[in-house]
Amino acid sequence: MSADLKINIVFLGAPGAGKGTQAANVAQELDLVHIATGDLFRQAQSQDTELARKAKYYMEKGQLVPDEITIKMVLERIGESGCSNGVIFDGFPRNLNQAEALDNALADQGKTVNKVVYIKVAEQELLKRLTGRWICRKCQAPYHEVNSPPKVEGICEKCGGELYQRADDKEETIKERLQVYFNETAALIDYYSREGKLLEIDGEGKVAEVSERITASLKEEFVR
Ligand code: AMP
Repeated sequence: MSADLKINIVFLGAPGAGKGTQAANVAQELDLVHIATGDLFRQAQSQDTELARKAKYYMEKGQLVPDEITIKMVLERIGESGCSNGVIFDGFPRNLNQAEALDNALADQGKTVNKVVYIKVAEQELLKRLTGRWICRKCQAPYHEVNSPPKVEGICEKCGGELYQRADDKEETIKERLQVYFNETAALIDYYSREGKLLEIDGEGKVAEVSERITASLKEEFVR
C-alpha cells in the first residue's frame, strides 16, 4: 500500500483484541504517526507529574482516565509536528464524548476520521490473551507467553528492553476493563457504523493473519 496516504484511522476493539500490535504495523506500513493513549499514560509514569498521578489512580482500577485529562493530552499530541500527514489512533476514543471531541478537533483542521478498524474477538479469547501478556518496558512491544513468546525469555526482540506484566493485566482489573469497554466504548461501533466508517475485522487467529485482513480491507478502501 502507498505510504503517502494522508488518512486518520481509529483502531477500535476490546482490551486484548490486538489493537496495539496491529495499529503499530499499519502505522509503519503507511508511515503514519501512531498515538496510543495507554502507552502515553504509561510513559508519563516515569515522571512525578499531576497527569501521571491521576492517570495511575484510574489505570490501576481498570477505569477510564477522566475525559478532560485524556482529551487534552490527545489534542496536544495531534498538534505536534508529523501528525498532519495522518494518525493512527489506538485506544482513543473510548467513549462518545471523546469521539465527538476528536471529530471537532479534526474538523477544525479540515480533516476527519477516515476509517475505523474494529477488531472483533470473542470475550473468552480476550481473557486468555490478557492474562498471558508481557510488554516491553522500553518500546511497549507486546508479547504473549503462549501465542507470541519472545525468543529470549523476558527480553524484547525489537529493542532488548525488559519485559514486564502490566499491573492492570491481573484478573480483577481485566474484568473491570472489559466491563468499561462494553458499557462505554462498544457504543462507538454504532457511532462509526452510522457514519459508514466501520471496517469490521475478525481478530481471531495469528497476528500475521489478522494483519493481512486489515491490510486487504484498507487497500480496498484506499487503493482504487
Ligand atoms: P490500554 O493500554 O489502551 O489498554 O489502556 C490502559 C489504561 O489507560 C486504560 O485501562 C485506561 O485506564 C487508560 N486509558 C487509555 N486510553 C484511554 C482513553 N482513551 N480514555 C480514558 N482512559 C484511557
